[in-house]
Parts: sequence; C-alpha cells; structure tokens
Amino acid sequence: MSGPKHSCGVVGFALNTNIAPFIYRALRVIQHRGQESAGVSFYDGEGIQTVKGSGLVHEVLDAERLASIEGKSGIGHVRYSTAGSKGDLNSQPMSVATLHGQMALAHNGDITNADELRRSYLQKGWAFLTDSDSEIILRLLSRDSSSYHDPIRAIKNVMSIIDGAYSLTILIGDRVFGVRDPYGFHPLCVGRLSEGYFLASESAVVDILQGEFVCDVGPGEIVEIPPDSVKISPPHKLSNTAHCMFEWVYFARPDSVLDGRETYQVRRNIGKILAKECPVDADVVIPVPDSGRAHGLGFAEESGISYEEGFMKNRHVERTFILPDQKQREAGVSLKLNPIRSTIQGRRVVVVDDSIVRGTTLRKLVQMLRKAGAKEVHVRIGCPPIISPCYYGVDMKSRDQFVATNRSVDEIADLITADSLGYISIKGLVEALGFSEQDLCLACVTGRYPTVIAGESHRFQRRLDSDF
Ligand code: AMP
Repeated sequence: MSGPKHSCGVVGFALNTNIAPFIYRALRVIQHRGQESAGVSFYDGEGIQTVKGSGLVHEVLDAERLASIEGKSGIGHVRYSTAGSKGDLNSQPMSVATLHGQMALAHNGDITNADELRRSYLQKGWAFLTDSDSEIILRLLSRDSSSYHDPIRAIKNVMSIIDGAYSLTILIGDRVFGVRDPYGFHPLCVGRLSEGYFLASESAVVDILQGEFVCDVGPGEIVEIPPDSVKISPPHKLSNTAHCMFEWVYFARPDSVLDGRETYQVRRNIGKILAKECPVDADVVIPVPDSGRAHGLGFAEESGISYEEGFMKNRHVERTFILPDQKQREAGVSLKLNPIRSTIQGRRVVVVDDSIVRGTTLRKLVQMLRKAGAKEVHVRIGCPPIISPCYYGVDMKSRDQFVATNRSVDEIADLITADSLGYISIKGLVEALGFSEQDLCLACVTGRYPTVIAGESHRFQRRLDSDF
C-alpha cells in the first residue's frame, strides 16, 4: 500500500469562544500518537485557514502561529512518524475549496482500497496532489457535498465507498463532524466543556481540559458537535466490530479509556495473565519503560516477585523504532535506556515489555542486563508474536521485518539471547481486553483480517445490517 501511514491523532472543537488554547492543549495531550507533523484548520468567520508543519505541536504552533488561530470551530491533527513519508504536503489537516465552500479533514487510520480508488479516479481524469489516502476521502467528500448539499448524506456516501480504518474529524464551513469507520479500528470520543463540545482520539484529553466525557463515537457513527448539543446519526452497522488490540497494548496512553476499557487496567490484566501463562522463578520484575510499565506491574502482582525500576529512560532521545537501519536502531536503544545496576547485579531478572516487532530492543536490552551483572534474564511479552502486517494504520508493514516470522519462541529466545521467553497467548490477550474475539482486530497476531485484503485471509465478510 502506498502513501504515508496514519496511526495518528485527531481532534475537533466547536465552542462559543476561540478554540486556540483548547486545541493546542488537546493536540499536546495526544502528541504520543504522532510526532512528525501537527496542524490545525479553523473557521475564521469567513473561510477555513490552516496552520500546519513538520515537528512537535509546540514547535509547529509557536506563539506567533497560535496567535493567528482565531475561530470558534476547528479540527487538528498530529501525524505519526514513519520512515520515508516525510514532507509538509502530507501533513494534515488537508483542506480544499469547493463551489459550496471550504472543507478540511484530519484522518487517523489507513484506507485499504485507496490504491484501487486512486486508480479508478485517475482514469476518470481526477488529479491528486499527494499520495495520501486521506486526500481521496477529502476529494470524494467535496464531490458528494456538491451533489447532495447535505454533509451527513455526503459523509454516508463516502463511507459506502471507502474501506478500512478511519477516525476522522471534518470541518465543513464552520460545522465540525466526527466519523468512525464501521469496524471501530481506532478510537474517537466526544467531550463537553462549559464552552461547547469537542472530539478527540483519546479520553485523556477530556481529563486534561477538565471537561466531561460524553461518549465514544460508536463504530460507523457520524457525530456533529454544535456548541449547544451533540447530534449522532444512526450508525453504519456491521455485525462485528474490529477494535485494534494494539491501541491498548501499546499505542494509547495508559490514562485513556477506549470503548469502555482503560488502557492501564488492560495492560495490568495482560501482565497478570502473562504471569499465569508463563511463570518463572526470579528475584525481580523490571518493566521496559514506558510502554511495558503496566504490563510489568501486573506480572509482579500476580507472581509475587518484587517490581523495581531496572532501566533509566532518557526522554530526550528520538524514537528508535523508526530509525532506518539496524545499527542506528541498536545505538538508539542504548542511548535511550540504561540499566540501573543495583537492581540487576547478581539477580534473576524478568524483563516485561509490551511487544516485540523486529526484536532489536530486547536483544540489546538483554545484552545490557547481562553486562550489568544479571544472573539470568527472562523476557515476558504482553502481545502474542507479531507475524502479519497491519493495513489499518500501525507501522508494522512487512513480514520480513518481524522476528517471529518463521521462528519458534525458542528460536527467538536464542536470537535475543534470553534464558527464557514467554508471550501472552491470543486467548489470554482477548481475556485481558474483555471483548469477544470477534469484535477485535487481531490480524497482526493471527494473520486473519477483518476486511478483505488481496492476498491475505479474512476473518469474516463485510455484512451491512443497515439500510445505509
Ligand atoms: P522492536 O525493537 O522492533 O522489537 O520494537 C519493539 C518495541 O517498539 C516495542 O516494545 C514497542 O514499545 C515499540 N513499538 C511496537 N510497535 C511499534 C510501532 N508500530 N511504532 C512504534 N513503536 C512500536
């Protein structure tokens, strides 16, 4: 699949006052969902203005740019960094002018039929400015808004054409909409402030803006947030949802509640189940900070082994996961994490992390622990072996990148030089999440996809229940 990848974060505001300070803070709360670019589109009373660029939220929206935002409605975006998809052209929100006014779009997810749609519209003479699937959504929306003169009908029609993962915030003139794909892959929720309403990828925004949580945008729902009330259109319903399990395992903040499940508690449950499934005799449990903390805590609670800080994390180092080559990634890991010797020396250590993708991080960490004097190093992982690519927005794209492709758990243990290695089972993960297996996307660990993807096996056919 071409184009930039979109496990990003989105927000939208409709207030009775200037959105600038609110949207700025909201975007900073969801900064972990994307560090490559940030942006805001707002309605200034006459038209839509966009302020965006590469960098972190506080860099892009510096004092001068922030002061230029003056409007009561708007949407915002932070974009996930993935190797090879840089450039301001792809940063969001994207906006277009139509005969019936301007509109802007912020997108989290990947559209799975984007290549096919792009080809068919190119043949019809359409031109695209970017290779982004979000632009396809925006162009379809502008076409349908012109034919229907009704944003909800236009959005519904676009939803019947696109497939895959999308949590969207949309600004049409001064109207703000939130849309979630019928599978509910990535999160989106509605919050209330005394000044109006907002949409956000994660509920932590509600707490930090001292608002009230109103609801999750349900799978297939379209929500409009005028300042005085929220309007929800009947959902575009499927018989099953496909919530991305990786949101809870790794991606979302521990303090966010997604579809009724707090990330922190899910991770803690994972740790507890992991301790039951893969017990080990050891002296200390250490988490890989920060993503493995809650998993590690659950493991320690269940096993009765003491939980201690075993690594110091340098927060100022860039994300190692996206560095382009193995040497740089390994060097990045030792710059980012360093063992705390007194926790490690002479002890049997259990290291708990959220997931293994390439195995770079854990291989390096096991070596570091041995050098710091660990007697034994046991690795426990809060996500089953990742064996299949994600087509829905998480940056895990090719089978040859996964250490678990064509390797047994023992072979992986040898490769990362651990004394033992244990992954949570798929059943255990499902139990920790508290959804039925049929309502989760587990494609990266099962190889069975909830939507039809050419060349991959799929879990169930798309079944529409509504008269949509
Ligand atoms: P690796 O060294 O490739 O095994 O990386 C695994 C670590 O990177 C995990 O422990 C996660 O904390 C983090 N991680 C996993 N998936 C992703 C992703 N798609 N994007 C960024 N970081 C990730």
